[in-house]
Amino acid sequence: YTLTDLSKRYTRGKESITIFEDLTMTIPEGDFIAIMGPSGSGKTTVARIALGLLQPDAGEVRFLDQPWAAAGPERVEEKTRRLHRRDISVIYQDPLSSFDPRWTVGQILSDALDVAGIDAEQQAARVTQLLDQVRLAPQLAERRPLQLSGGQRQRIAIARALALQPQLIVADEPVSALDISVQSQILNLFNELKQQHQLTYLFISHDMAVVKTMADRVAVMYLGEIVELGSREQIFAQPAHPYTAALLASVPDISSRKGKFGRILSGDPP
Ligand code: ADP
Ligand code: MG
Repeated sequence: YTLTDLSKRYTRGKESITIFEDLTMTIPEGDFIAIMGPSGSGKTTVARIALGLLQPDAGEVRFLDQPWAAAGPERVEEKTRRLHRRDISVIYQDPLSSFDPRWTVGQILSDALDVAGIDAEQQAARVTQLLDQVRLAPQLAERRPLQLSGGQRQRIAIARALALQPQLIVADEPVSALDISVQSQILNLFNELKQQHQLTYLFISHDMAVVKTMADRVAVMYLGEIVELGSREQIFAQPAHPYTAALLASVPDISSRKGKFGRILSGDPP
C-alpha cells in the first residue's frame, strides 16, 4: 500500500489552504502503522484519500499493485476500485454514524457478510463467530445500535470490518470517543486481533498506548507534514521532533515517582 507525493488543498471562499504537500508513505503488507498528530494536522484527510473517498490534488495511492486514487487525468474511477473495495475496511471514531439505527446487530453483520459473498445459510453461524471474536455475547445480535454502549458499538464496528475479510484496516481514531476505561479494552482487542490476523493496519490515533503496545511503525504528522516516520523503537529511543518528545514525556511513568507529566507542549498548533 503506497501513498506517493500526495498533496491536498481546501478552498474556503477565496482562500486556498494547503493541508499537506508531497506526502509519501509506504505500508508493507502485515505492518501496523500508527499515524499520530494533533487535531487539525491532516490525519483524517490522509485517511480519506487513502480510502479513495477524497480525490488528491497531486500524487497517487496504490493498493495491491493497482492504482487506487490519483490526481487529475490519472484519476481512478470508483468502478475500478470496486474490485478491491472490500479488501479495505474502515473503522471510524463514531460508529453510530455508519450504522443504520433500524437494523439489528445481526442484520448489520449479515449485510457485511453478504457483501463478502458468504451465503445465507452460513451467515448466522458466522455472525456468532464474529461476535465472539470481538468478545460479545451472541444475544447481542438481536439489539440495535442505540441499545448498545459505546464500547459495544465499537466492537460491532470492528466485527463488521472483519466480516469483509479485508487485507487492510483503516481506523480513524477508533477509541477517542470512548471513556478511558473502555478505550483500553478496545485497544486490547485491537492488539489481540493484530496477533490473530495477518492484516495491515493504518491506525490513526493520538493515544500513546497504541504506539507503545501495537505499532510496528509510527508516523508523526504535524501541520500537514510527516515530521518523523520510524520504527516504534526508533521513535521511543530518539524522538526527532519536539511534538513527539512532548507526547512521550506526557505518558505517565509509573516506575518513577518524579516528573509524572514531564514536558507538554501547550496551546494549539498555529
Ligand atoms: P485531523 O484529522 O488531523 O484532525 P483533518 O484532516 O480533519 O485533520 O483536517 C486538516 C485541516 O483541514 C483542518 O484545518 C481542517 O479544518 C481542514 N479541513 C478538513 N476538511 C475540510 C473541508 N472539507 N473543507 C475545508 N477545510 C477542511
Ligand atoms: Mg481527524
